[in-house]
Amino acid sequence: MGERTFFVLVQAAQEKEAARRILRELPRAKLARRAKGKVVFSFAGDVSELAKLSWAQGLYILAAHFDDVGRDRAAVDVLAAQVAQADIEQALGVWAKLAGMAAPDSFSLEVTRAGLHGFSSFDVERAVTGLVARKRGWKPVAEGAALVMRVEIYSDEALLSVKLPVGNKDEGGRMKDEGGRRDSGGAAALCCLILAAAMSVGARGQAEQKAVCAMCGREVDGTQPVTVADFGQGTTLRYDNLACALKDMALRMATSLAEATCPVSLKVLKVIRTGIKWTADPPTARFMLLKEGMFAFASQKEFIQFLARNADAAKQRPKPLTLRQALAVIGKPPPRASPR
Ligand SMILES: [Zn+2]
Repeated sequence: MGERTFFVLVQAAQEKEAARRILRELPRAKLARRAKGKVVFSFAGDVSELAKLSWAQGLYILAAHFDDVGRDRAAVDVLAAQVAQADIEQALGVWAKLAGMAAPDSFSLEVTRAGLHGFSSFDVERAVTGLVARKRGWKPVAEGAALVMRVEIYSDEALLSVKLPVGNKDEGGRMKDEGGRRDSGGAAALCCLILAAAMSVGARGQAEQKAVCAMCGREVDGTQPVTVADFGQGTTLRYDNLACALKDMALRMATSLAEATCPVSLKVLKVIRTGIKWTADPPTARFMLLKEGMFAFASQKEFIQFLARNADAAKQRPKPLTLRQALAVIGKPPPRASPR
């Protein structure tokens, strides 16, 4: 079964523990991003294993990603049409397996929104619910829906996901229905934008939307995506790995900051360049060069832990490099390849 993108919702400040638990229970899962109240991961194994995550407030599979939805009132209808027409059959297939039903007879919608818009979450909920009910023939219900869909709006992009029925019902009553918080703050889950862009939308050879590395044009596959903020231009760019990010930073005039998530501790690692000065935060950060690219860890210990878990990486016998060594290994920045 192909790799898919999932996320769990947890209480704020529980993300790190949740991420550890996901890796413990699904050793084949790959953590992608962590944001407030949310842990995103990809998983290619048997979907029945996902039932192990029933402790989460909610487990979701990403179904589609929409760009350029817009921010004004007209965006509501644009988004409703996109959701109603989206090819979400893969996600529904996973849902059906876990639900033990071929198709849902009823549904409800969760909507969250972050950013400035000329509409409310409620406007979206009403429009999307109406159109999905007409197009799919599912009955919209307020409670006890067979299928729960979730629309998350970030600025002018939106994500559509499907809640998976893995018994996230009780556990003290806490777990229920907390995923539906409305208008959650902008800090929540900007995370999965990157990931969703990287994941293919729809199956069967449809046009796919992927994020590509700003340096080499390779797809950002979620292994250890890196973002770089250029404070001169006020832009943020994405890279498939740190080697590309550092090469590009070396070419920039202004102060720039790269951020990546350590795949072991999920700490956010930073590399800052100001003029000729490069700084790693934390200073204990170690870098690993593989044929796949450069990866960063919060410490040498985590580098070793990672190799213990990843035979493919260990086979390449990488060394734990300091930032200085890592920069030396990358050498002179090559000419910029044009993406695609
Ligand atoms: Zn690259």
